[in-house]
Amino acid sequence: MALFPQSFIEDLRTRADIVQVVQEHVSLKKVGGTYKGLCPFHGEKTPSFHVNREKGFFHCFGCGVGGDVIKFVEMHERLGFMDAVRLLAQKLGLTVPESGGEANEADARDRETLLKIHEVAAAFFRQQMTEPAGARARDQLQRRELKPATVDELGLGYAPSGREVLKNWLLGQGYPLPLVIKSGLVAVRDNGQAVDRFRNRLMIPISRDTGSIIGFGVFFSCARKAQSVPPAANPSSP
Ligand SMILES: [Zn+2]
Repeated sequence: MALFPQSFIEDLRTRADIVQVVQEHVSLKKVGGTYKGLCPFHGEKTPSFHVNREKGFFHCFGCGVGGDVIKFVEMHERLGFMDAVRLLAQKLGLTVPESGGEANEADARDRETLLKIHEVAAAFFRQQMTEPAGARARDQLQRRELKPATVDELGLGYAPSGREVLKNWLLGQGYPLPLVIKSGLVAVRDNGQAVDRFRNRLMIPISRDTGSIIGFGVFFSCARKAQSVPPAANPSSP
């Protein structure tokens, strides 16, 4: 994956005069359509190092190295691709776009993982609703006369009452604890213990326009104090 936008790299290649860049280090002589000089990458007495300005590349017929202007800077300055691009951009007075930087690349990966955590947590909550642990939540939904279709449509689920149920499940799925905490689903207490933030709650996922889940709201608490809802005449409820 390109770490800088491809358009920026292309712009850099177009703007950089490879002959000028190479000439800072190698004495070149114009021969026909190309420039020739002594290869800086292997010892030689007769020039076999060619630079083609129009095509924007260099090639050595002696040792076989070749590439574009960025490759030359990489090899000559012994830099990685990213640093070679930065150096070249600096020389040309171009601003390196920050949006594609390494740090942002890591941020983008984290953001993707956070979305994934929300997605699997929503599935986990929905699953819990069908488990024996979700009986009270189901009962309360019934009392509030929410139709199963509505429950499905809203994506409602149940956050179980245990302290570390969701946390342990997410860790078991391979999600790293720092990101699990960053998701807001797990909170760190004063004593340093990481515990589920939502317990014994009916959860409603909050989605973006694109449909990806970015958070959760508490639809209602299933704890005792929330049982102020008048009991419905339903003899089958536990
Ligand atoms: Zn060479």
